[in-house]
Amino acid sequence: MRLTGSVIRPPSEADSILLQVTLGCSHNKCAFCGAYIDKPFRVVPEAAVDEALAFARDYGHQSRRVFLCDGDAMVLSTNRLTRLLTRIRERLPFVSRISAYANARSLGPKSVEELAALRGLGLHTLYMGLETGDQETLSAMNKADTVADIVAAGQKVRRAGLRLSVTVLLGLAGTRRWRIHAERTGAALSEMDPAQAAALTLMLVPGTPLHADWKAGRFDLPHARGMLSELSTMLAHTHLSRGLFLANHASNFLPLALRLPRDKDHALSLIEAALSGRIPLRPDHVRAL
Ligand code: SF4
Repeated sequence: MRLTGSVIRPPSEADSILLQVTLGCSHNKCAFCGAYIDKPFRVVPEAAVDEALAFARDYGHQSRRVFLCDGDAMVLSTNRLTRLLTRIRERLPFVSRISAYANARSLGPKSVEELAALRGLGLHTLYMGLETGDQETLSAMNKADTVADIVAAGQKVRRAGLRLSVTVLLGLAGTRRWRIHAERTGAALSEMDPAQAAALTLMLVPGTPLHADWKAGRFDLPHARGMLSELSTMLAHTHLSRGLFLANHASNFLPLALRLPRDKDHALSLIEAALSGRIPLRPDHVRAL
């Protein structure tokens, strides 16, 4: 598939057909995010999406999954998404599962019923970035949505019967507010109750405002032990009815993949063992992305 610029997708979409229906992110101002620094947001014309679908049908690998790129596919109107999902079903009848990133702004105008109708057309999983449950930290990061809006949007996704995956960022509050960040993030995740929560470790990206703050001494990134303490506190405050909690991204110091609530106590004891030096951590050169 011909793609415009570099494409970012969740690790679990590694085998998916990548279909660009928007480019970049319509916000593109989060202080920590370098994903689309050089890629102005735009909607890909329907004719170009049709061409990409024809290419995928004729030459692509016959994956059963499609991931709608880039960072903001759900910003499209419900009518446009309905046409898009219908076209995917027509052109790629072997596809049974379609996923995308989503945020509170793009989901806000869409009702539960509209989202449920999109689910009926093959939409399966929405990946949302909560980043933190601490509003002060979220505002400092210039995220467009509030914590309350993100939580409400996530709950709406679940009510529509869609699978919800939520990402949070260890280290985002620096060394000053790490505990509040960890506790409130666990609480917000509990309210959203996703099928999957993923805790990534903040990596400072050159060219972003947060990287500039760090260089200027205005932001302190927690070291490995601080990140682990944060993970432990966050996990202790996360109460999912039934879901995966993943901290196994390449950025993490101690790879963990657990089912909640079943594995929580075991995971907390593993983190404790790592904090006391009984389990080795991933070295920085292995974590580097
Ligand atoms: S974190 Fe998400 S919403 Fe923020 S700029 Fe990056 S892609 Fe856009």
